[in-house]
Amino acid sequence: MTMVITNIKTTPVLVPFRYPPVTASGAISELPLVLLDVETNVGLTGHAYLFVFLKGMLKPTIGCVAAVEELVKGMSADPEQVDPILRRRLELLDIHGILGQVLAGLDMALWDIRAKSEDLSLAAVLGGTRDYLKSYNSCGLWVEKGDPEKVADQALELLAEGDFSAVKLRLGYETFEEDLAVVRAVKRSCGDAVDVMSDFNQGLDQKEALSRCQALDGEGLYWIEEPVRYDDYHGSSALAAAVQTPIQTGENLLNPLEFQKALKANAADYYMFDVQRIAGVTGWLAAVTLPEAASIPVSTHLFPEISIHFMAATENAHWLEYVDWASPVMREPTTVSGGKVQVPTTAGNGIAWNDEAVARYRVE
Ligand SMILES: [Mg+2]
Repeated sequence: MTMVITNIKTTPVLVPFRYPPVTASGAISELPLVLLDVETNVGLTGHAYLFVFLKGMLKPTIGCVAAVEELVKGMSADPEQVDPILRRRLELLDIHGILGQVLAGLDMALWDIRAKSEDLSLAAVLGGTRDYLKSYNSCGLWVEKGDPEKVADQALELLAEGDFSAVKLRLGYETFEEDLAVVRAVKRSCGDAVDVMSDFNQGLDQKEALSRCQALDGEGLYWIEEPVRYDDYHGSSALAAAVQTPIQTGENLLNPLEFQKALKANAADYYMFDVQRIAGVTGWLAAVTLPEAASIPVSTHLFPEISIHFMAATENAHWLEYVDWASPVMREPTTVSGGKVQVPTTAGNGIAWNDEAVARYRVE
């Protein structure tokens, strides 16, 4: 019997953060997620979640899922068939923004169904050869004005949580002096054995980025992420050429073609993709297998539960970004020990709901 999509269920939830994000591009107080359950005629259900940034975006996202549901009802539940059909059908509409995110979520859920139908983990379906990924703790170290020592203390707490040896620090304070003070406080408290990634979240203009990033050379940062707009490939390329610390970018790239353009412009030394932005698991697989990407270290952005699976099958896998944001609604939250995340072997993409918690955080 052909396995077909029968319907898509959506559940909006608002999940509290342990350390609410404050970046150079703004603050988020609670995590708004749309949980997706893609159901089939054979009883298999695929799970995924979408991170929609604003509570007010829950309803429009759910509306968009309903529109996509009308298109895919009765369609084969095969991600490799559905993704190209939908992208062709919708190419006259703007498939960036919400619609692109919904297509990515559907794709993640369909890969879950594929894995479950083969009784394999998604990592195994994709030919994953790794048992674990090294991971950095990205749950905190937000832009906190006033007290670099407080941020430095939080770095130690974050390292202790999973015996991590790497953390990410957010930069982009009003003045460079504040950036420098927090970098030095965190480096001093963590010691030389700890890798400290840093992230400007697109907060600087070109001139300021050049001045700050060059001045940070010599401070021992592992990478400097998104100093300028993610889509200013040439600006980022000029920075990467002028700054010794590796430049990291990519979490906002919307599809493999954007990645290819960034690569051609030599926009960065390292790249990271966000599965909700890069067009789902299907988009990830296309991006990392571009011939131009052969020697580029690739990391993940958010979504650790599913990302661990395709990272296990990614030749140039670099770092898994660990956040616990969706953990409260997960039946089996991602855990870290010794700074590593083990690749799960249970069937599926790693996403299953804790129903009691979902009921608690559900909003209308
Ligand atoms: Mg970032």
